[in-house]
Amino acid sequence: MSGLQPVRGTRDLLPDDMRRHRAVVETARAVAERYGYLEMATPVFEFTEVFKRTLGETSDIVTKEMYTFTPGGTPGGPDGEGEQITLRPEATAGIARALISGGLAQHLPLKFFTSGPMFRHERPQKGRLRQFHQIDVELLGVADPRGDVEIIAVGAQILRSLGVLERTTLELNTLGDPESRQAYRKVLVDYFSGHREALSDDSLQRLERNPLRILDSKDEGDRKLVADAPLFSDYLNQASVDFFERVKADLTALGLGFALNPRLVRGLDYYTHTAFEFVTTELGAQGAVMAGGRYDGLVETMGGPATPGVGWAAGVERLAMLMTAAPAARRPVAVVPIGAEAERLALTLTESLRAAGHSIDLGFGGNVGKRMKRANRIGARAAVILGEDELRQDSATLRDLDSGAQELVPLSALAEHLARFR
Ligand code: ATP
Ligand code: MG
Repeated sequence: MSGLQPVRGTRDLLPDDMRRHRAVVETARAVAERYGYLEMATPVFEFTEVFKRTLGETSDIVTKEMYTFTPGGTPGGPDGEGEQITLRPEATAGIARALISGGLAQHLPLKFFTSGPMFRHERPQKGRLRQFHQIDVELLGVADPRGDVEIIAVGAQILRSLGVLERTTLELNTLGDPESRQAYRKVLVDYFSGHREALSDDSLQRLERNPLRILDSKDEGDRKLVADAPLFSDYLNQASVDFFERVKADLTALGLGFALNPRLVRGLDYYTHTAFEFVTTELGAQGAVMAGGRYDGLVETMGGPATPGVGWAAGVERLAMLMTAAPAARRPVAVVPIGAEAERLALTLTESLRAAGHSIDLGFGGNVGKRMKRANRIGARAAVILGEDELRQDSATLRDLDSGAQELVPLSALAEHLARFR
């Protein structure tokens, strides 16, 4: 029965996984905060239109990967196109929607950090899930190349804090401004039109609607053609060249090395100017850990005011896999009561110790031997033993479970004594 298995491409985050996951998100949140990025969250689902419009009708995400449904149970059934709901495949579209529907455009520039689950119906592999998680930063309302640089810098700082920056390469490209893009688009259409018979079906469609996306194709045959395709860099206008030069100069000034990759095109229609990815060779085929760029056309595409934007998203699962040092679980203190009276005391004592900030484990039964075993199994740092002798002296035996050393401590001073085990 399929109901007893997790859905293909989804996985449980059991406590060990969850700790890594949380370390990624908390590190990112803390670093983003230092750069002035405020945390926000959008709903996990939006009207399908939000993604269709922004990701482009021909994108892989929209054509193949979206989880779209019509909410059931409403009297009279589905209400047509307007009621189609999609589980978000990425975060930027929702944030742009929030900017418009919340009237935030009057407060620009805005800096946001967000994180949470994303959903894409793609073939599951190592590092490729159907429900995965992203951390994401967005800078809205800044057209200056210093915005691109800050966005990359905050990403690099997060990777550094996670201890993985050294194992990634920053790949950089520019997609130019709309004028350059238009010029290059024409050249590309000419080139690929001359090789129609060698193009995949998908790319034949892209040729009509978004030829740039062919550069991103994963099809073998397409990739051979792409290798000889004209380069974007030869068709950039002066303004686009200048913009890119400033980005590169500032990255260099910050000591952030990069590798130019003229084939790096983001899969989404609204990207302009800077495109970048932090990639690694350590995760097999799933090499991209953080990807982003400038999307000056996005908010307008959605019907909002023209608003420049730049941002990135990174896969939490991929970062968690890359992280070598997994954070250790917090080690609790085990309270071990012996006898009925001690049990009663333990109930209130553990509550007050927890209220004082200590992490306390209190078992629900068993003799001293069993309880001490459990204390070891959960990795307790110390044990507070409450026996008859101890109670008579209003005290507890506090045992350091690493060294075995123990001492008698008055109950009134217990919270203080536990401080050294935190
Ligand atoms: P890929 O080339 O690996 O398919 P993408 O271009 O689809 O990546 P983006 O849409 O830019 O990825 O998403 C940003 C990041 O989110 C990726 O760099 C990756 O770390 C992560 N990511 C994307 N799709 C998945 C997935 N299905 N499972 C796990 N992580 C993912
Ligand atoms: Mg993808």
